[in-house]
Amino acid sequence: MKFDLIIIGAGPSGIFTALELVRRKSSQKILIVEEGKRIEQRSCPKEKTRYCISCKPNCHITTGFSGAGAFSDGKLSLSYEVGGDLPELIGSETVQDYIAYTDGIYLEFGADKKVEGLENTEAIKDIRRKAIEAGLKLVDCPIRHLGTEKAHEIYRDIQNYLLEAGVEILFDTFATDIVIEDGRAVGVKLVDSKTRTGEQIRYGNRIIAATGRKGAAWLEGICAKHGINRSAGTVDIGVRVEVRNEVMERVNHVLYESKLIGYPAPYRDKVRTFCQNPGGFVSQENYDDDLAVVNGHSYKSKKSENTNLAILSSHNFTQPFNQPIQYGRKVAKLVNMLGDGKILVQRYGDILDGKRTWQHELNQSNVQPTLPDAIAGDLTSAIPYRPMTNILKFIEAMNTVVPGIASRETLLYGPEIKFYSNKISLDQKFETNIQSLHCLGDASGWTRGLMMASVMGVYMGQLLYKEK
Ligand SMILES: Cc1cc2nc3c(=O)[nH]c(=O)nc-3n(C[C@H](O)[C@H](O)[C@H](O)COP(=O)(O)OP(=O)(O)OC[C@H]3O[C@@H](n4cnc5c(N)ncnc54)[C@H](O)[C@@H]3O)c2cc1C
Repeated sequence: MKFDLIIIGAGPSGIFTALELVRRKSSQKILIVEEGKRIEQRSCPKEKTRYCISCKPNCHITTGFSGAGAFSDGKLSLSYEVGGDLPELIGSETVQDYIAYTDGIYLEFGADKKVEGLENTEAIKDIRRKAIEAGLKLVDCPIRHLGTEKAHEIYRDIQNYLLEAGVEILFDTFATDIVIEDGRAVGVKLVDSKTRTGEQIRYGNRIIAATGRKGAAWLEGICAKHGINRSAGTVDIGVRVEVRNEVMERVNHVLYESKLIGYPAPYRDKVRTFCQNPGGFVSQENYDDDLAVVNGHSYKSKKSENTNLAILSSHNFTQPFNQPIQYGRKVAKLVNMLGDGKILVQRYGDILDGKRTWQHELNQSNVQPTLPDAIAGDLTSAIPYRPMTNILKFIEAMNTVVPGIASRETLLYGPEIKFYSNKISLDQKFETNIQSLHCLGDASGWTRGLMMASVMGVYMGQLLYKEK
């Protein structure tokens, strides 16, 4: 059977393409291929075991229907300035319009109506004043917080809506390759994701690669094999910072998420905060080759005593080396090696003292790790000097805006690395230099968040609808 559209990857970018076509009552035959499971079959065993057992063949946090969105914090950033470079491709105003439209779809599926960061204007002014004093920029970004449990429900309803509308979804199915004939993408080679056997080919008029950060290395191989144009992008290397809620109380209350950007001396690289989770939990996600990377999320109702957020330092490479994904993986591997395959955690004060952290020392602090199986150790032995210096300088500056964040007991977890770095060359229809092959979401290098990935999907869906 030939499909009108084959989407590889059931993350937000892929599913919102299908959703938009279905909502517009398109008659197109759509196939979604997903390496992981249906959303109701996704569960992280850590909830029971309290430690990561490195699920095989895939990590449930990153794989399966709704991709990395399923266990995400479900924070929808409602500003075009946050979540990637899509505005460079289709324009800021268009992106902002599509954010409003896509937000409406999330609301239809039951998202909380409250938007954080729109009130308390005097308090926001005061925080901005302090940010200016510290040499940091405060980015305005209203947030709709779904919460992990609600995000799960919303994506489950979207899954069922698509299935009922006749969209075929092949779960537990891994796309090994894209079939290209005479410069045109015509199909996808598939295998069983567990056994990697039983190869079959499905044909389609258009193919969309929406494989997320998880599929970034896979896509890199596909680009190299088929001559798909891309440029080396940025790699973000950082840590997840965790403090008691009391330290972050003001910004949590006024902004929910404080999006701060700085360019600390001496390198002047871009350093920023990302994904702040008041009352949240630090989490682990696993990638292929047993790569363990730290992240964070928060529930709507279940709250911890801590707030976590990422501090990321952006790096670019030119020549002779220009493979940011490989660089990021090496750094992550090194940190994992020192943590015996687990996430490492170190106190800020120990870093300043030039010593590792010991487990018994963590017990002495006000702040207790919400990632209980993180290994106390020494991040500075693995994270390169330049990003580490950037992170420490940034925390120092941030202390003006959030007094107490630079206290000795503040926890730094690593590695937090974002693998969205290769930027696929796309035209305004998100088509690559291979005819009929499109690329969406975090895998494309143009987005790095739920809303922007969803927007890219909706926009693609509308293009395909108009075309038919
Ligand atoms: C713990 C956590 C918390 C997060 N919190 C937030 C948040 O609060 N707000 C926010 O904006 N963003 C958050 N994010 C990031 C957000 O989830 C991603 O930006 C978003 O999901 C990207 O969507 P995507 O469609 O590009 O890819 P993904 O969601 O990564 O989906 C890609 C899908 O493709 C599948 N796939 C990959 N390769 C193949 C293949 N070869 N064959 C078949 N299937 C394949 C994968 O299994 C996956 O399901 C969080 C991420 C994590 C992990």
